[in-house]
Amino acid sequence: LNRRLAAFGTTIFAEMSALAQRTGAINLGQGFPDADGPEEVREAAVRALRDGRGNQYPPGPGIPELRTAVAAHQQRFYGHLGLSYDPDTEVLVTAGATEAIAASLLALLEPGDEVIALEPYYDSYAACIAMAGGSRVPVTLRPSPGTGTYHLDLDELRGAVTDRTRLILLNTPHNPTGTVLTRDELTAVAELAVERDLLVVTDEVYEHLVFEGEHLPLASFPGMRERTVTIGSAGKTFSFTGWKVGWVTASPELTAAVRSAKQFLTYVSAGPFQYAVAEALALPDGYFTAFRDDLRAKRDILANGLTDAGFQVFRPAGTYFITTDIRPLGEQDGFAFCRALPERAGVVAIPNAVFYDHRNQGAPFVRFAFCKSTATLEEAAGRLKRL
Ligand code: PMP
Ligand code: GLN
Repeated sequence: LNRRLAAFGTTIFAEMSALAQRTGAINLGQGFPDADGPEEVREAAVRALRDGRGNQYPPGPGIPELRTAVAAHQQRFYGHLGLSYDPDTEVLVTAGATEAIAASLLALLEPGDEVIALEPYYDSYAACIAMAGGSRVPVTLRPSPGTGTYHLDLDELRGAVTDRTRLILLNTPHNPTGTVLTRDELTAVAELAVERDLLVVTDEVYEHLVFEGEHLPLASFPGMRERTVTIGSAGKTFSFTGWKVGWVTASPELTAAVRSAKQFLTYVSAGPFQYAVAEALALPDGYFTAFRDDLRAKRDILANGLTDAGFQVFRPAGTYFITTDIRPLGEQDGFAFCRALPERAGVVAIPNAVFYDHRNQGAPFVRFAFCKSTATLEEAAGRLKRL
């Protein structure tokens, strides 16, 4: 293994899901729903397979039906913010958001370029920045005392920009903290990007899981459309994480750049599933609101359960994750806590420290996923209460 990757080891999600399987514990670690997405969308995949659509290499940028559906989805949800994309030149289908992140960084970074990322950050960011030869500059989201939420320190963000900064890698709604960046925060990010002539890659895979307020795509802010690569995921939006269908929307120049990298990573993927996701994106508004409302109710069940069990809960405004502080339980070390939790309580969670460069900053925080049935969440909460 080369030096760029050696630091990263096995992803925490694989490690913790294996632990859940070995111990039979309830898996609130890796973020995947325990119920598959809509039946009609699964049927659409079966039809595509059976009718011989997508069983051979689909077109490199993605099938036209899916690119059109992505563009229509952006228009439907963000058209009122002035955002729309041309399906032929401004949409690229990827093997999940994961490939979109990798291809964007591989396409846009020169060796030695600095990338600003919000810490704690999704684990593939650090590895992909490293693979692209970039160096990461974390800006730490910190709990605001007394508010039960995290915030972005805008001075720290501004201070992180140097002459070597090439791009900001943003994520809102934010995994693992559940933070949804506010209009003011996004305005500040946009102003900074324009002022310092930075690109932004923005991971908005939880765009439909905003429980309070609305999702604001960074690309809709002044001066941002031409410098922003926006990433979405069918895995997250339609609960098909195994299908690995994601997409990029960006200017023609940026889309072409990301496609240049993507063509040598996977070339294409998910043929029949692309047809099914095209249908999913056209589901009526009711699908999206029901999905969000369901997860909001689940958030409340798990947040209340964790509070009753003695955790300090950072109530998430978005995503399907809850970050907690374990210090009220007399614990300090999230790693040790998560490794012992299956034995002690029959539950698996993720230590947030893995999402930090400054590991000690993340030490007492632990993440629980709530994209699970109500019964599972209640059972997990009951077990944690007996800790
Ligand atoms: N970005 C974030 C913030 C995520 O939480 C995830 C995980 N699901 C991904 C990207 C990867 O998405 P996909 O499964 O579509 O590759
Ligand atoms: N995004 C999911 C999470 O944060 C997991 C994805 C993965 O396993 N790579 O839990």
